[in-house]
Amino acid sequence: MSNTLAIIPSMNIKNKPATFFALLILLLMAFILYWSMTKPVSVVIQAGHEGRTCGNTGAECKLYREEDWNILVADEVVKKLRSWKIDVKRMPARVHFTRAKIVVAIHFDRATTPCNSGASIGYPSDDSKAFAQRWKALYKDYFPFKWHEDNFTDNLKNYYAYRWIRAEKFLLLELGEITCDKQTKWLKPRLKKIAHLVAYAIAKELGKKVKRPAL
Ligand SMILES: [Zn+2]
Repeated sequence: MSNTLAIIPSMNIKNKPATFFALLILLLMAFILYWSMTKPVSVVIQAGHEGRTCGNTGAECKLYREEDWNILVADEVVKKLRSWKIDVKRMPARVHFTRAKIVVAIHFDRATTPCNSGASIGYPSDDSKAFAQRWKALYKDYFPFKWHEDNFTDNLKNYYAYRWIRAEKFLLLELGEITCDKQTKWLKPRLKKIAHLVAYAIAKELGKKVKRPAL
């Protein structure tokens, strides 16, 4: 009787580190499982600000909301890429941990003084720079308004999703200014064509032989 009583408390003390260790192993296994389930995809397309109800909800002007335009363009890019048999993950503003070859986030800029902005590109490192220049060459031929230097704002340089999605190349595209009447007038009837051009740039970057869309 007295022997059993002596064993039980000592077992409890010994079990504490063992329980902790077992828990750690379980956590590690769960993490490995999660990692293997989040298999890398070729492309991630994000519609900027999609689903945000507070915080950075995107640019707005009296006629248009940036979020709506981002969704329209992002959906069309995805549609085009899938028609070329490229695997794509479509993401809203709230991203989760993913691995991809190419990530493109779709945005439209705003300006306090209307028409002071235009198109620009953001990227996290020089790994994406050549791709950014190839996109710029394509879109510069088409978009007839102002261009900024790459990464000209902190938002472009340090976009939060750079930390969540591990990508070989990540571009944040500002496709024009939504607070400029001249630009929205040009952009609105061309949103799908712009989306096709984005899809084309991505497919080319992946080495796919696809037809350049008619603009
Ligand atoms: Zn935006």
